[in-house]
This record gives sequence, C-alpha cells and structure tokens, in this order.
Amino acid sequence: MDLLENIDNVFVFAPHTDDGELGCGGVIARLIEEGKNVHYVAFSTARESLANPEDGDILRVEVKNATAKLGIPNENLHIFGYEVRKLSYVRQDILEEMVRFRREYPMDLVFMPVVHDTHQDHWTVATEGMRAFKNKPLLGYELIWNNIFTSNCFINLQRDHVDAKVNALREYRSQAHRTYMNEEFIYALAKVRGTQIGMEFAECFEVIRWIM
Ligand SMILES: [Zn+2]
Repeated sequence: MDLLENIDNVFVFAPHTDDGELGCGGVIARLIEEGKNVHYVAFSTARESLANPEDGDILRVEVKNATAKLGIPNENLHIFGYEVRKLSYVRQDILEEMVRFRREYPMDLVFMPVVHDTHQDHWTVATEGMRAFKNKPLLGYELIWNNIFTSNCFINLQRDHVDAKVNALREYRSQAHRTYMNEEFIYALAKVRGTQIGMEFAECFEVIRWIM
C-alpha cells in the first residue's frame, strides 16, 4: 500500500528559498509526476546572506526557475521577503501566514524542517508549523548538515526524481559554492536513504504527525 495514494494537495514550507528543493526536491518531482497539486512557500530570499550583496533579489529568480523545473506551477509559488536569520522576530506573522494558507487551500500533507534543526530560521518555521497545522499530517525534511534527525519515514524515488532535484538545484547559481549543493552528495544521500529500504533511491523524513 502506498500511503501517498490518497494525498492530493501538498504544501512545502521553506524558511529560505532552496530549503524545499534540498529537503524534498525528489519527492516534489515524484508527487508532480503522480498528478498531485504542490505548493511551495518560501519565507526569506536571504538577501543579506548573499556572497555578493549586489545580487539583491537573485534568489527570488532562482527559486522561480528551480520550482518551475520541478513542475510547480508559478501560481503555487509563494515568496515572502522576511529577513534571513530573523524569522523568530516575526514568528507571529509567519504563524498567521501559515494559518491563512491552511484556511485558503486544501492541504493533505505538509513538509517543513524538523524542530531539531540548528538554524534559527528553520527552527522557527518548524515550531510555527506545528502550531498552525496541528490537525494535519506533517513530515520534517532532512537537511543533514543542520539536523538532529529521526529517520523514521522513507519515500521511494526513481533515478529521474533525483535527476530532477539536481537539475532544479543547478538553478541556484548564487548558492553553488555551498558544500551541500554538491551533486555527488545529493545522489549519495538519496542512495544511502534508498539502501536503507532496499530500494535504489529515497528521501528520508521525520514523522511529526501522521493521521490514518
Ligand atoms: Zn535554510
């Protein structure tokens, strides 16, 4: 039995542009291939973290290209301009935006960071997500360089899904210097997670809440 079968409407919450693709880009590709409706919400375009501050809004362009490559329609992409590393200063606004999404859209499954994530913005999105979606199935995605993580949920992927993730991540030219953007690493982690379930590739999640 495939537990994703009855899920049609999926939300991915990303503190920063690129977190959603890094955490569950392969699964997004698979869900879209299966005809699911996927929304992507990014809270910060991390202008202040750019290696070259003159790039300004480059991440807004890159997330648009990356999510389009994964097949997310433009009208399902929601980008906010909150300041990087300061999401906790506006946690109530983030909560209210999440509640607004919950009221306005059907939502069968939510992906977000895990609570034990060392990045303060990831932690904020995870904790506000637990508040906003306390009646929804929630899966925390893996950002292995940041997480203390319970690997208790695996979603099987085909090679094409991992290829789609890597292709999407190539759009983040402003982030190409980050170690976790390394393509060998992306394939290797998907292979590790696949091997754990006797498959070729997978992405791994922490179950925050599953409702059956
Ligand atoms: Zn991030």
